[in-house]
Amino acid sequence: MSSLPPIESTVITGQQPGPHLLILGGVHGDEYEPMAAIRKLITLLKPAEFSGKVTLVPVLNQPAYERCQRCGPDDLDLARTFPGAPDGSITEQIAHQATQLIQSADYLIDLHTGGVISDLAPFSGYCLHSDPAILETQRTMARAFGLPVVWGTTATLEGRSLSAARDANVPAIYAEWGGGSQCNATAVSGYAAGCLHVMSALGMRNEPVPEQPIQYEIEDNRDQSGHLQLHNSAPVSGFFEPAIQLMDTVQAGDTLGTICSPLGDEITSIKASQTGVVLGIRTLPYVKQNEWLVVILETDHSAS
Ligand SMILES: [Zn+2]
Repeated sequence: MSSLPPIESTVITGQQPGPHLLILGGVHGDEYEPMAAIRKLITLLKPAEFSGKVTLVPVLNQPAYERCQRCGPDDLDLARTFPGAPDGSITEQIAHQATQLIQSADYLIDLHTGGVISDLAPFSGYCLHSDPAILETQRTMARAFGLPVVWGTTATLEGRSLSAARDANVPAIYAEWGGGSQCNATAVSGYAAGCLHVMSALGMRNEPVPEQPIQYEIEDNRDQSGHLQLHNSAPVSGFFEPAIQLMDTVQAGDTLGTICSPLGDEITSIKASQTGVVLGIRTLPYVKQNEWLVVILETDHSAS
């Protein structure tokens, strides 16, 4: 028997029948733009203006939210814990409830940010599903969202909401934008608009999907692609000062920044381990050895 109260959500039903879209925010408790964007959607969605049903969850991981941290008190990362367990720890129980919600939906959008430690450029992503029809629907959803980068990555990552959606054959995308201990108003508006564009692309709204330029559209089916925290990590602990900005292009070997000691007398230069576009930068200056510093989208690797 689960001791967790039911996930707090709002369900808005359109006047015409249609599919069920689930929109999740707050999988990580320190990611604020999605929470505000989903609350904005709750005020924007009018039953007369769409068909089907939308379930909106602004703050999925409330125990983590109340700690202002990525994870709840059991220190499990919810985005590594799906499908969870009904009698498990608090995060496992949240994952279990969310998995049931995902299984009840026809489509999933899961919104994220860089959390309190980092800032991310806007991008949408999906996993390279083995079912061609689901994969094509996910591509359509990710493009319609309207962000400058669209990234398809390995279908083999486990523990994510997208893993639960993959296993339930529910077409799913995620998006990343903002972070860094703030709530960026541009990202909030962009996220709300992106969800509405996806609804239009799915036929739930009678609005055209705006033509929006995509700067980079990459599909990368290598093992672990899409795992943001794997590359360009800190070789030593210290004070990180980035030398690059989001969406800069870098070559492997380029300087990404420095890590220095408290007096500045020991300086370690950080070199890019990949060639591509900067999608994420750590903004919290103090970094521990092996924590990630920069996310680079490799623009020279595409699925064949
Ligand atoms: Zn997240």
